[in-house]
Amino acid sequence: MRGSNVPARRAQSLIRPLVRRLHAYVPGEQPKIKRLIKLNTNENPYPPAPAVLAAIKRAVDGRLRLYPNPTAQKLRERLARHHGCDPANIIVGNGSDELLAMATRAFVEPHGLDEPRLDRKAHQVAKHTVQYFTPSYSLYPVLTEAHGAIANGVPLARAFALPSIEQLRLNRIWNFHAALTFVTTPNAPSGRGYATTDLERLCRVQRGVVVLDEAYVDFAEENALQLALRYPHLLVARTFSKAYSLCFQRVGYFVGHPELIAALDKIRDSYNVNGLGQIAALAALNSLAYYRSNFRQIVSTRMRLSRVLADLGFDVFPSQTNFVLVRPPRFRACDWLEKLRERKILVRWFHAPEVADFLRITIGTDREMDKLLRAAKEILK
Ligand SMILES: *Cc1c(COP(=O)(O)O)cnc(C)c1O
Repeated sequence: MRGSNVPARRAQSLIRPLVRRLHAYVPGEQPKIKRLIKLNTNENPYPPAPAVLAAIKRAVDGRLRLYPNPTAQKLRERLARHHGCDPANIIVGNGSDELLAMATRAFVEPHGLDEPRLDRKAHQVAKHTVQYFTPSYSLYPVLTEAHGAIANGVPLARAFALPSIEQLRLNRIWNFHAALTFVTTPNAPSGRGYATTDLERLCRVQRGVVVLDEAYVDFAEENALQLALRYPHLLVARTFSKAYSLCFQRVGYFVGHPELIAALDKIRDSYNVNGLGQIAALAALNSLAYYRSNFRQIVSTRMRLSRVLADLGFDVFPSQTNFVLVRPPRFRACDWLEKLRERKILVRWFHAPEVADFLRITIGTDREMDKLLRAAKEILK
């Protein structure tokens, strides 16, 4: 490595202890293998709507020298119309990941690592606490750690169900006063959908901010967006990445109370959403017919894949997303990962003990799913 003769110790001593100890988020691989079937990061197998591509191409000219609109004004106005709310209810981010990080910074008090032992009284801990269910999005603990806050991961109920309020009251570790609670709905990596009435019940008993992370909601039976317009402590997170085939462009948004949105806006980078992203998202909202048929196609492929995998002996969890979580037969999940990889099919396997026996498979095109099924049959032969 270049520069490796420079003493590393000196450089390391300049880094905050918290950052030195940090475990970075581990994204799914983006390998450059020819003709690979990539089913590991929940990308949409279909391209963005033709009008979206055309809008981006039209925008690529000398205007690239100019700063984009700092508040994504047009996009927020269009989103407000789409959701029947006000632009003041909306903040746009460089992907919803950026907004999840901003929520951590805006609502959670970091605790000084150099402080003497933290007072463990519940109400004192609460203001430092980021809470989430496990398993869910593995970014939440990373954001928490990076902020110097306390992570409180609480196991979901059986089959990844949301625990009832009664169960949470009996559960000694759930914190009803946590400064921030993330709920992935539908859940990842299980794919399980949650009823809006259950989410509402949960939100009503939480004192701190609750973020409902609806990254996959377009593939689900219901969504909880209206709750964000009814409760002052609720934010709904959406993204153009998965459903709208725009991972590359990095556009996500929060819907919520204008006070929370204004607070987030204060800590936002001035030009956090790039101009082509704003243009792409706006065009996507004007191509909803295309996307609705795309969602229907993915849901129908998901149902077919689930059926056939179940026939092959896989335990398939019912999904309301563009992926399925399965427990494969015969071999260990990590061995399946390798066997599929040898056949140029990439799926996702997580180390986390509660899901280590499972594979997460993104729904691809019907052709890709046929190849996956053929490979699975071959492996089982
Ligand atoms: C993909 C994903 C996101 C992040 O989406 P971006 O908008 O691309 O940052 C957020 N939450 C969950 C649960 C996701 O799976």
